[in-house]
Amino acid sequence: MNHYDDIVVGSGISGMTMSMLLGRAGRKVLLLEKQHCVGGSMRRFVRNGIPFDTGFHFTGGFGELLSDMLKALGIESSIEPLPLDTSDKNHIYLADSAEMFDLPSGFDAIRQALYKYFPAEKNAINQYFDMEISIRNRTSFMDIDKLNTLDLPELFEDIDENYLSLKEYLDSITACDKLKTILAGFALCYGSPPKITSLANHCRASYGLHRNLTKVKNGGQAFVDAFKKEARNHNIEIRTGTTIKSVENIVRQKASSVTLSDNSCYSIDNCIMCIHPKEILNILPARKVPQQTRETVLNYQESITFFSIFTELKIDYPVKPNLISMLSCADIDTIIDNKSPASAMAVLTGTEEINGSSHSLLCAFETEAPSSGDRWRNTLHRSKDKSYQQYKLKKAEDMIRRIEHILPEFKGKIKLTNTSSVLTFEDYIPPYGSAYGIMHKMNETPLFGRLPIRNFYAAGQNAVLPGLLGAMLSSFITARFILGKNFIVYSKLKTNLR
Ligand SMILES: Cc1cc2nc3c(=O)[nH]c(=O)nc-3n(C[C@H](O)[C@H](O)[C@H](O)COP(=O)(O)OP(=O)(O)OC[C@H]3O[C@@H](n4cnc5c(N)ncnc54)[C@H](O)[C@@H]3O)c2cc1C
Repeated sequence: MNHYDDIVVGSGISGMTMSMLLGRAGRKVLLLEKQHCVGGSMRRFVRNGIPFDTGFHFTGGFGELLSDMLKALGIESSIEPLPLDTSDKNHIYLADSAEMFDLPSGFDAIRQALYKYFPAEKNAINQYFDMEISIRNRTSFMDIDKLNTLDLPELFEDIDENYLSLKEYLDSITACDKLKTILAGFALCYGSPPKITSLANHCRASYGLHRNLTKVKNGGQAFVDAFKKEARNHNIEIRTGTTIKSVENIVRQKASSVTLSDNSCYSIDNCIMCIHPKEILNILPARKVPQQTRETVLNYQESITFFSIFTELKIDYPVKPNLISMLSCADIDTIIDNKSPASAMAVLTGTEEINGSSHSLLCAFETEAPSSGDRWRNTLHRSKDKSYQQYKLKKAEDMIRRIEHILPEFKGKIKLTNTSSVLTFEDYIPPYGSAYGIMHKMNETPLFGRLPIRNFYAAGQNAVLPGLLGAMLSSFITARFILGKNFIVYSKLKTNLR
């Protein structure tokens, strides 16, 4: 029987990161992806020669966590940041009061901007940002240098803010609903409502975005291309259209071999699953998973789903990178509730250079209840169903009308290229199409690290935090468990972390 040291399941950013860390440590790695191409939510699609990003548009973390991880993976030079932080490139629009808040990046700049909008709330604004910075500084596992060198108890020190909800905290510092909405705004980038999200997790997810909101040249594809190159350098084998069919030879809760869906069998040291926890349950032998673990996983609640439009702007100048979050009301708890009619729409603009000519693009993602797809969920060839096409077109036209209302300079210039419904997301982000996997609820243990079969591990956006940073970080932490201290193998010329 052939042998792999490690089999990694799922080729999203988490699986790619995991494979690179293990490959760089000299291990023999096989990466499995059940779809027919690598990249998960980082993939782009191309229409009329123009590429559109699906699950990656902007990130924080350049100049700190993200840059450190890219250096550790040896792909820093392949990922080029395109900052949105020159001035007020992040906007929150509250539809019920028709107010636009222009928010710059950087802690000093954002404090100053908020003092102007909320002069009576200076204390609350300072308290919040001091807290966000303090939580980030007290989270040792978000510091790659510490992750590489500290002992585990120091790395995972418990903090009180893990047990305080974001909502409770915001209510304690201000009575101003609009300010609370703005401070909780990046909840839309992880998809759990403030009433069930810990203050600590919110601050960990928001810190990088407040500090330095950035796009990346060539979007998610830049990460996929960099990974493919590294995979060749470190002999990481990639098999698409393949998953694990069965896990065998389990002795003392350790499995020594697996059979893949193509019926090939391998002996293994470890298997790392960078996929949705409910997909993990489908792979692990049921008799080896304690009933309590199974119930916990089955009770996880899914984060938000989106309806999206992908458009080209018919304008004769390159549009600047911009993010506008349009909220139908000033209550994020209501917005991130799949049953509520309240919604949030993220509108993103940017320019792509293709063969020497620039294309101004606008994409928008609006929260949408999964039930909106019920009528067509079980139909074959739904793309040919007229009523489905009509629903998508009507929804897209409605979104464009609302975008034109707040961005009148684009009136009549937004040319629709493609749409994706909650059903499209279900096809591309298995099993439920939820943008950020499960909701990360306070007091609920995620499926992370060592699994009931002890040489099997769980990582990915469902394990630590959603988003590019959270998914990559989950793989760094898991690699630390597997490989031990000093697990990062730096390229010879890159010995310094910063
Ligand atoms: C519309 C949208 C916009 C987003 N925008 C941003 C953004 O701007 N910035 C940001 O940081 N984050 C964003 N996110 C979130 C971000 O995309 C995710 O948090 C992150 O990419 C998740 O990475 P992952 O590796 O954990 O999972 P995924 O990318 O979901 O990868 C999992 C992979 O595993 C494969 N797989 C599943 N089951 C199996 C199996 N049984 N066997 C083999 N393979 C399997 C899947 O096909 C998939 O390729 C967005 C998400 C969405 C949906």
